[in-house]
Amino acid sequence: MGAVPWFCGANQHSFKTVNPGTAPDAPGDSPDLLHTINNLKRVPFGTVPTMAETSCPAKKQTLLSPWRRRSQWSATLLLLLTPWFRIDGNSLLRIDIPALTLHFFGQLLRIEELYLVLIFSLILTMGFLLMTMVLGRIWCGWLCPQTTLTDLAEWMATRLGLRGLKHSRKKLLGQKLALQLSFLLLALLVSANLLWYFITPQLFFAQLFSGQLHFSAWIFLLVFTAVIYSDLALVRRLLCRDFCPYGRFQTSLSDQTTLTLHLPESERERCIECNSCVRVCPMEIDIRQGYQIECINCGRCLDACRQVMSNRNQPGLIGYSFGTTGHGAKALLNPRTLLLSLATLVLLIILMFAIYYRPAASLKVSVSHTAASRILNDGNQATFFNAWINNRSREQATYRLKARQTGTNIRLTLKGQTDQIELEAGENSRVDFVLVTPAPENQLGVEFILMDRNGVELAIAEAYIKELQGY
Ligand code: SF4
Ligand code: SF4
Repeated sequence: MGAVPWFCGANQHSFKTVNPGTAPDAPGDSPDLLHTINNLKRVPFGTVPTMAETSCPAKKQTLLSPWRRRSQWSATLLLLLTPWFRIDGNSLLRIDIPALTLHFFGQLLRIEELYLVLIFSLILTMGFLLMTMVLGRIWCGWLCPQTTLTDLAEWMATRLGLRGLKHSRKKLLGQKLALQLSFLLLALLVSANLLWYFITPQLFFAQLFSGQLHFSAWIFLLVFTAVIYSDLALVRRLLCRDFCPYGRFQTSLSDQTTLTLHLPESERERCIECNSCVRVCPMEIDIRQGYQIECINCGRCLDACRQVMSNRNQPGLIGYSFGTTGHGAKALLNPRTLLLSLATLVLLIILMFAIYYRPAASLKVSVSHTAASRILNDGNQATFFNAWINNRSREQATYRLKARQTGTNIRLTLKGQTDQIELEAGENSRVDFVLVTPAPENQLGVEFILMDRNGVELAIAEAYIKELQGY
């Protein structure tokens, strides 16, 4: 085997040579997973094909492209359909801005509980980093909505005969207009889909057809439609190549264990220089030159090479490999990957505990800013309070408020609607009440307790009553 080009972490545009004797080029060196992927459509080397294979060999092969398309469409469908799903009447995933609540897989998280979402976001980020370290830019090639939209835009252009074919000017104009209209409709669908993560699709269509869609929703729709239309019509792969922050960021995560496509040195002599692998590459790179940061691991070059070589009854030359160190998937057992996996797992456990032990209700209490405290005829002090109660459960609940002052025998009396407080699932409601106490000297600390109908304490809030001056 010859020298295998590889990239180094500090400068991804430069290459270095690793021990040529350890490159996993021989089939026996590949781990099971890679062996399976790399041989999905491989025509056994040296076998004598039958007439059917000779006349149409490409049809005998299993390509990666259908699997990539399935993966892209599954991710797209998931994004499209998620806003339509509900758990116990609540959206699966939606930000309710007026209620400052996040609908999160059956849980209703108020803004004060966003630490849970932060932990979840951190887990997602770390999982994403881990995926990039192990599988490179597989997200870009196989799942990213931007790639799917670009593929769709290119497919539309091909279907309308606007890619690679010459037409009369008049015919071309009509096709171009049809293409731009398709882009506009697609952009409108995508921006509406984004909006459904804030307004339920059912409410969106009801308001749209009754002419009651809020102007902020219209602005959202128009702005995002314009942005996505520009992306489809003008930007496309340029975003992946030059602007996407993830694409830039992943270069510092890839190392000599990351999954990449490459043409092994041992196979170079079989290359017939047909350039098929270069022509199909959406990122316009030549994988024969070694790994390049623009590569999105889509596998098109691998398919192209397999098809070309199958016509010669030979296996393709390009393959996936976890780096070129010859350790295969075992190369993943390195401190960086293991530490990140462990940290992700720990965060996941913390999140599960935080959700499991999350209180069923929350209580916030503060002295009213609109109703002034006063001294009553009997010498007691009346202090006006506002309480905010949030029912975090998925069921309607009835609550009761109680006041207590630990360590003293001071009599505390609550007046107002502090009993039989009924809240729907997820509802956040304000309750106004009055606390009557002996007039304090300086200030008095009081605890307010929120209880369910069985007297179980659910939440506690503290407040201070101040001595009134001038009485
Ligand atoms: S080099 Fe191959 S895997 Fe990488 S982007 Fe181009 S076609 Fe896709
Ligand atoms: S498709 Fe295969 S044979 Fe053709 S140029 Fe690329 S690597 Fe060589």
